[in-house]
Formats: sequence, structure tokens, C-alpha cells
Amino acid sequence: MAKLSDPITILKGVGPTKATQFAALNIFTLGDLICHFPRGYEDRTRLTTIDKLQIDVPACFKAMVMNTPRTNHIRKGLDITKVQVADHTGRLNLTFFNQKFTTDQLQYGKEYIFYGSLSGDYIGYGMTGPAFEAMDAPPVVTRRVLPIYPLTAGLSNGAMLKAVRQALAICDPPPEILPLSVREKYGILPAERAYYAIHEPGSMIEAEMAKKRLIFEEFFVFSAGLALMRATREGIRTAPYSDLNLDPFVSALPFTLTGAQKRAIADIVKDLGSSRPMNRLVQGDVGSGKTMVAAAAGYLAAKNGKQAALMAPTEILAEQHYHSLSKLLVPLGIRLSLLTGSLTPKQKKELRAAIEAGETDLVIGTHALVSESTVFANLGLVIADEQHRFGVSQRSKLSAKGEDPHLLVMSATPIPRTLALLMYGDLEVSIINELPPGREPVETFLVGESYRARINAFIRKHVEQGHQCFIVCPAVEENQDLDMKSATAWANTLQQTVFRDLRISLLHGQMRPAEKEAAMAAFARGESDVMVATTVIEVGVDVPNATLMIIEDADRFGLSQLHQLRGRVGRGKAKSYCILTSHTKSQDTLQRLKAMCKTTDGFQIAEEDLKLRGPGDFFGSRQSGLPTFRVANLSMDLQTLKDAQTASAQWIEEMSTTQTPEAAALRSRIGDLFQRSQGTMN
Ligand code: ADP
Ligand code: MG
Repeated sequence: MAKLSDPITILKGVGPTKATQFAALNIFTLGDLICHFPRGYEDRTRLTTIDKLQIDVPACFKAMVMNTPRTNHIRKGLDITKVQVADHTGRLNLTFFNQKFTTDQLQYGKEYIFYGSLSGDYIGYGMTGPAFEAMDAPPVVTRRVLPIYPLTAGLSNGAMLKAVRQALAICDPPPEILPLSVREKYGILPAERAYYAIHEPGSMIEAEMAKKRLIFEEFFVFSAGLALMRATREGIRTAPYSDLNLDPFVSALPFTLTGAQKRAIADIVKDLGSSRPMNRLVQGDVGSGKTMVAAAAGYLAAKNGKQAALMAPTEILAEQHYHSLSKLLVPLGIRLSLLTGSLTPKQKKELRAAIEAGETDLVIGTHALVSESTVFANLGLVIADEQHRFGVSQRSKLSAKGEDPHLLVMSATPIPRTLALLMYGDLEVSIINELPPGREPVETFLVGESYRARINAFIRKHVEQGHQCFIVCPAVEENQDLDMKSATAWANTLQQTVFRDLRISLLHGQMRPAEKEAAMAAFARGESDVMVATTVIEVGVDVPNATLMIIEDADRFGLSQLHQLRGRVGRGKAKSYCILTSHTKSQDTLQRLKAMCKTTDGFQIAEEDLKLRGPGDFFGSRQSGLPTFRVANLSMDLQTLKDAQTASAQWIEEMSTTQTPEAAALRSRIGDLFQRSQGTMN
């Protein structure tokens, strides 16, 4: 018997080439392969007859081959094979392109099972390229529920199927982690059955049951892990801050705090004054003023003789924080420093020495710089900005870093309340659901391609008024298979045609980090009029002078992501606009996009997204800072998630005293999951 940790190369037919293809899907071991779940199924169990076939509705039918297949060589690279088949209800012409090798197997007078859909025109009906197999062959592509796997170039669904089948035959699936009581209560399949059935379901119903079990399982592990983390932290004690007076800070602010900011700050003050380390998430829409909430916490830490670290996802954001907070906090006697990659090694060394000597109060830098090798004299507070880049494992690593500092994470990704409870089970949550007064909402329009000339004129108008513009494209490079705009090509096109006289810059994820930062910084300095970008601009850089955002092929993005992108404009005094373009004809999609035009409330949009697309989207996106969920692309239902959470909360209490194999397996799975989540930080 093989082990789950054995490499997939022990499988027949998986050599070095195949192995690289599997690696592209993050599949290295038999365990990875068994946990590579189908993204959907085709029900090929139903047998029909030729007269009942419908146009564009694929189905299986049994038919006899009525002549020897004839192949015509049309030109180089194009062979067409034609053959006629029949059953007792009628005849059907089949056409195959470049499949001579396959069709040679069809024998005159013999019966086969075919699977395909009818295409019809005025001349007659026919079928192109159906799958088929002999009656006496084992059901592989017909007469079964066929799993459809996420694939990669060179790797076919059939190859995946074969590999998975082999793996399941030589190796036991992952062990049971759900106690019998839980499985009975929620009607959950045992692990062994579920892992087989997800790949080889006997029926669509069985596939559903398997899916439910695996989603339940993954969330059970995840919530149990969060609950364990919370329990660990709850045992920790810390000296409560004695000076909780924020009056000098509040008086120094150039504006009045919003009610929501006040409430969040009050939550924080309460945490800092208690004997348990704070573990709080502040969730607030872009522009809701989270930085000031963080500043209040940093101010209190300094007043109580503690150091604070503010970690930003990018250098440029760190710089922005440094400048805005210096203005406010330096006059209040707080010593700030900025730790970035652009410091010389000597400067870095000096700064680190100062931090270690306790000569600075608030250190601002990127996640990496602050967490890596920096030693603090007495770190009392860690603030992580843009929570979605700051995963569970970073959270747990931090509390391991010395003296259990207070932890404050700030997120601009609005998550529906129901999901927030599941996702941040180890954190307490404060929500800032109010924008500072006088902010004009970004006006949003949804338009089709016929508006192109007007869009371009609109861009020009904004630039002529001294403003800047973002254009977001769904892809980096031209891809002929997918009909969507690519940043690189579109930037070129614009520069060489309508906008020859404008300064157009480019930003995408395939650029090196330093190039990305430089491009973004140049744009922030006003050295470019139009930035054509991919979604990498999503993370919060403040360019108040950008007043227009065009999102090309907006239907390619989720609502929450669109919302995040739109948040890049409307940060200054001038009125801002967002234009979504799409040539989709789907009413559902248009409906979804229209929600963006109706509201700018991120939480409302997130609720809408949840309703329309289900929770998979939130958990599936790398934004969430969660471990990557294997089941994220199985469609999930909220009830299963909630049940899993309830069950794990109950079980975790019992587990501390239980020595069952399930409990041991669960502990090891939790370890794996949180280890893996490190990969989500970038
Ligand atoms: P977030 O980080 O939540 O996206 P920021 O903290 O960057 O938002 O705040 C956005 C802008 O709003 C900043 O220019 C900030 O100075 C300003 N701001 C914050 N709070 C208030 C307030 N209560 N009244 C007016 N302006 C505010
Ligand atoms: Mg911010």
C-alpha cells in the first residue's frame, strides 16, 4: 500500500513531464492528487434514443455503426471523418475532426455507447466529435457521472481521471477526522466514502453528498484551528495599560472623528486596558479612516512605554502612513521611524539598533521588514494594515514573537457579517460603517463597447483638468482563447492611437516588485496621466488626484473585487467616476454589475455578492488571507459552513480530553492547514 505523502511519479504513466504539469496545479503527492477535487460533473448516466436527442443537450445513446468510417484529408492538419450510426428510432451522421486514430476503432455493424449533443441546421441534424466506447468496455467516458477537473496545459481530463483512479486504488484516502457523533448529527458521509465518491460518484446525488462532507470537513478543521488559537490566547495575561487618556490625540486631529471611528477606538481602548492581549480586526470600507484608529492605538502604546509596529503590504503604503502619521504624532512627542527596503544596509542597521535600544516608539514598514529580523526593545502592539495579505499563520506566528503583543488588523475587504464570523473566529471585530462627512460617492456607470469614443473623451477631459486616470484590464497579456482586454496590449494601443500625447504607464503582477513599486510611486507623484493596470492596484495606495477609473470587461471580476478597485478613486476633493465596460449579454451578469452602480456601500455589495455567487468566492479569493481552501471551487452553501463551525466549537471542548484517532488526525490536519496558509502572504 502506498502512502499519501508518496510522490505522484510512482503512478504508472506519470513521468517527469506529466509531473511538471501536475506541479502547475500544486499536485506533488498522492495526497495532493486525491485532494484535487472536480470542479463539476457531467451526468452521463441517462441513456436516450436517437429520436429524443436535443440540440445542445449532451446525452448518451446506444447505436450501431452503419458503415465503415470514411476519412478525408482536407489539407495539412485537417482530416474529417464521417460515419453513420443508427438505433431503432433513427439514423444519425457523425463527424469527427482530426480523430482518425480514434475513429478507426469504430467497426461496421458493432454497437457502441456515444455521448454528445446534436447540432442542427436547415439541412439536417448531426453530431460532431461525440465520445464513445464499446458496449463491453468499462464505463469511462459514458454511462457514468464524469468528474470535470481543474486542468492545466497539456493535462487532459482523462489523464487526470486515470491518475486519480490509480492513486485511490493503491493508497488510503486521508483518515477520518470527524467524530461519529458529528457525522450522525449532520448526516455526513464517512471520510473514506466521501473521498472515493467525490472522484467516482455513482450518481449526482452521491457527488453532492461527498461535496457536502468535504466542505464540512475543511471548515471543521479551519474553525477548530481558529478556536484552538483563541483558546491559547485566552490563557495569556498581559499588564493592562494604565494611561488610556486620548484627549491630547483627539485635540490634535485636523477633523472630528466619525461616530464609527469613535466606537472602534473605544473597543480598542477597552482591550488595551484589559489584562488580555488585544486580538482585534477593524473592518472598514476604503476611505473610512482606519489609519486614524490605528494611530490612536499606537499613541496609547507609546504613552504606556511600549513600542508599536505598523505593517503595510507595500513600501509605498508604508511611506504614506509614515508621512501622514508623522504630521500628527511627532508634535505629540511620539518618535516614528520608517523601515523600508530602500534604506542603505548601513541605515537599516542603525535603525534596527535604535529599535532594539527602544529609541523609537512607532516603527512603520512592510510586513516582511518588520517581522523578519527586527528585534524590539519592548514590542507592545502590532498593527497589520490590509488584513487580506496577512494570513492566519502570520497572526499565530506573531503571538509567538516574544511578549504577546496586542494585535490590531485592519481590513478594507468588506465581508458579509455571517462570513466574517466564520473567517475571523479567532478575532474580535469592530466595524467602521461610516465615511467621513463631505465625501462624495464615486459615480458609477455600466456601458457597452459603443461608448468607446465617449470613454476616451472622458479620460482626456479628466487629464486636461489635471487629474489622473486608472484603466484596469482583466489580463496581463493578449490571450487569443479568452476574449478580454490585456493591460500590456491595451496600454500600447492607447499610446499609439488616441492618446499619443498623454503619458501612459503600465502596472501588472508579472513585473518585479521593485518595478511595480516604482511605477506606482511615479503615478502617485503625477508623472503619468493614465495608468493601465491589472488588479495589482487593488491594495490601498492613495492617489487623491486620480478621479477616474475605467474597468474593462468588468464581468470578469467579482463584485467585491470591483468595489475594492473602485476604492482607488474618490479619495480626493474632486468628484470621481468609475466606468465599467462589458460586452456580456447575460442578464444575470448585467444585474450583478448594476448593483455596483446603485451603491458604494461595501458591505451591501458583499452581501449581494454572497447572494449571487455564494460563499465560495470569498473563501476562494486569495484576498481573504485565509488558508487556500481546497473545496473553495466546489459550490458551497452557507448552512454547511455554519453547521461545521457549530460542530467544531462543541467538539473542540471535548477534544482536549479525548484521545480518539479522529482527534489525533484532526490535530495534525490543523497543523498542516495553518502551515500551508503561509503561502498566501505576498
Ligand atoms: P482607510 O485606510 O480606511 O481606507 P484612511 O485612513 O486612509 O482610510 O482615510 C482616508 C482619508 O480620510 C484620509 O485622508 C484621512 O485623513 C481622512 N479622514 C479620516 N478620518 C476622517 C474624519 N473623521 N473626518 C475627515 N476626514 C477623515
Ligand atoms: Mg488604509
